[in-house]
Amino acid sequence: MKVVVLNGGKGTRLGLSDRPKPMVPVSGQPLLERLVEVAVRAGFKDFVFLNGHMREVIESHFGDGAAFGVRIEHVRESAPLGTAGAVREARALLDEAFIVLYGDILIDVDLAHFAEAHRQAGAIATLFVHPNDHPDDSDLVEADASGRIRRFLSKPHAPGAVLPNLVSAALYVLEPAAIEHVPANGASDWGHDVFPAMLAAGAPMQAYRSIEYAKDIGTPERLAKGEADLASGRVAGASRRAARPAIFLDRDGVLNEEVNGVHSPDDLRLVDGVGPALRKINRAGLPAICVTNQPDLAKGLMSFEALEQVFAKLDTELARDAAYLDLIYFCPHHPERGWPGEVLELKVTCDCRKPLPGLLLRAAAEHNLDLGRSWMVGDRYADVQAAKAAGVRAVLVRTGHAGSDSDRFDCEPDHVASNLPEAVAHILKAFEQ
Ligand SMILES: [Mg+2]
Ligand SMILES: [Zn+2]
Repeated sequence: MKVVVLNGGKGTRLGLSDRPKPMVPVSGQPLLERLVEVAVRAGFKDFVFLNGHMREVIESHFGDGAAFGVRIEHVRESAPLGTAGAVREARALLDEAFIVLYGDILIDVDLAHFAEAHRQAGAIATLFVHPNDHPDDSDLVEADASGRIRRFLSKPHAPGAVLPNLVSAALYVLEPAAIEHVPANGASDWGHDVFPAMLAAGAPMQAYRSIEYAKDIGTPERLAKGEADLASGRVAGASRRAARPAIFLDRDGVLNEEVNGVHSPDDLRLVDGVGPALRKINRAGLPAICVTNQPDLAKGLMSFEALEQVFAKLDTELARDAAYLDLIYFCPHHPERGWPGEVLELKVTCDCRKPLPGLLLRAAAEHNLDLGRSWMVGDRYADVQAAKAAGVRAVLVRTGHAGSDSDRFDCEPDHVASNLPEAVAHILKAFEQ
């Protein structure tokens, strides 16, 4: 698989005058060299560089790639053509699926895992997505539980809109067929022009939700943050190479008020202090992973689309406090049959309905988590039991059900807290020690 790198950036905001943006030194090494290393680590050695502004700096630095142990084909952009127009210019070099990287992002992503997910999804485009602390100023996707993208939401967004916090990072796997959706002439961008057109044409597009590091470094502030993250080990620490701890969070009664069924966005009210508490988890560099039973799907009281809207509302409320959930896992099942309107294929005995640990185990397998160093916060002993069964430490909070199901379980939490902010304080202190 070839790796296509968009190198046309000027780096004006970084104040660069003697080199193009991809050559900006990041902790002493040109960003583009770092990108090549990330691809090589995943086993990719064939590159197509799409060069524009000050292309001679890149061409003389890398040559044919032999000095870096790779093969590089340089394509010269005839005029500024946008991110999609530039790839169209290289069409003759792209006869099978390829990875697209923008030359202004600092990443440590397992590109082989990403490419394999693309193959399995059978999509013509797979987009690396993750939440951030400013989704209202980002290109977003709306995807179903399997990751199939329903809508591409280009910025700017309407003020006050309910938005899923799934930000499209500048990282894709594309089939050559994707290029057929690029306008034949002139400039065009994947995000603004091509992806919405692909979806409108019914082309299958997939979201690849990841907790690995991928951030653009296009301003002095972001560059400084990226260098700090490299120095602290946060960039490599977020990679799939080493198992990392996470904080699992029950939803109802922990993040939002327990109201006996949240079936629409209007039913959702955050528990006091949840946004700032979650932001502390985010800033500590720990993945925040929601694991929630949603049996009303099986009972026929709520549709999957309604649940997605509720999660989008949750994302939107959290974003007000610059906070986010990294991943969301839910159990749609319920065991006992016999009620009108129920969805029979979801009325099953599963391994993911808490108190069983299936959601936690699935998250760990998909994202290489270290369960032994992870924590779970819940308002029921069913949450505590699920955590214990997964080898995860548990905090019971006195919001929501406040542990009212204790008589049904033979387990104890590691800590009891009044609410999520106190639970997070306890957990972060435990990490510091
Ligand atoms: Mg709960
Ligand atoms: Zn289940």
